Amino acid sequence: MGALPIDFDLLEMPTNMSSSALAYVNIRMQTLHVHDEQPDFAKTLEKFSKEPSASETADLKAGAESGVPADRLEYAVRMLSKYGIKHEIPGQAYAELLLLAQPHLRQEQVPRSIQARAFSVMSKIELDSANGKGGALNISDLLRAAQHADNAAALGFVSPAVLGAAMRASDVRAQVRSSGPKFAHALQHEPEFEKLENLWEVLDKHREDVARQAKKQEKKVAKAPSSYRCAAPECGIIATKKVAFFRCSRCTAVEKAHYCSKDCQFADWKRHKPMCRPPKNNTPQHEVEKPETDIHVTPNPLSEGSLLDHPGDGRTRSVQVADLPIPGGKILLTNSTLSPGGLKSVRDEIEALAKGLDLASI
Ligand SMILES: [Zn+2]
Ligand SMILES: [Zn+2]
Repeated sequence: MGALPIDFDLLEMPTNMSSSALAYVNIRMQTLHVHDEQPDFAKTLEKFSKEPSASETADLKAGAESGVPADRLEYAVRMLSKYGIKHEIPGQAYAELLLLAQPHLRQEQVPRSIQARAFSVMSKIELDSANGKGGALNISDLLRAAQHADNAAALGFVSPAVLGAAMRASDVRAQVRSSGPKFAHALQHEPEFEKLENLWEVLDKHREDVARQAKKQEKKVAKAPSSYRCAAPECGIIATKKVAFFRCSRCTAVEKAHYCSKDCQFADWKRHKPMCRPPKNNTPQHEVEKPETDIHVTPNPLSEGSLLDHPGDGRTRSVQVADLPIPGGKILLTNSTLSPGGLKSVRDEIEALAKGLDLASI
């Protein structure tokens, strides 16, 4: 299946941090680290949960102004997220990133690691802008995102942002090509996309890795399928590790029922009960009225409101998003910071958004 490993950990975070601190951690995680060497998410959140002090910001600014490349990069990222820096000239951060990424413009010395990260940050900015408003995709912004990502990849740096730009560009190209003359204006960019060899190489390698992982996982799941899928028929939450689920305790079913949450266990109890504990003549009915789980969790009913109302428990879970206008039509959302209910509301939101997507707007 056309599952893409999209990680929604960075989308919303279950804390009461300021929006600028969240934005800062988000940019940081997506752009400044190699995708498979991500720092611990919870620790990063904790580390940056407080806005920096005025003196810390002043020191950083002084370093940036005296030309220290690492400080210039850090200051630009903080400007973008408004983390400790509230009033900055629009475009200033981007201009600084451009100079860091292309040091020959001012005959400067900038370490390759900083150069690559500057490209990575710019790629995210352009991708965000390409994905834009109301589902309308801006193909020029997407091309720029892909070009920046290609430059980062050429420098050997593959962040989640670089992979994200590669996946989005690859999907859009496939779509544009299969739609033919209808997207003539988008097709014009095709030769420029084609040139981004470093990016496509990185994407191919990533897809191979993902396919290999998926095969391994399939084998594992085939041995005990019920341990990896919430037993509630309507739920759809799946997990890569058994630990993400709660097992129905004292379950006598052949395949023990596992649930993503107590909510699901309660919702499914009527259906599951006859399999769980077949009625025995000597067992009073009322004894099995309520299910029990091995682990006690606070019920967290799915409700309207912010995703921040759905803090997770650090366990990674996935849910499939279907009916998307992309090759394969579906993706797998994976997340460890949202509760199962929060993850499902993200799925519902994306499916609703996808329904409103207007391809003619490319
Ligand atoms: Zn049971
Ligand atoms: Zn469930």
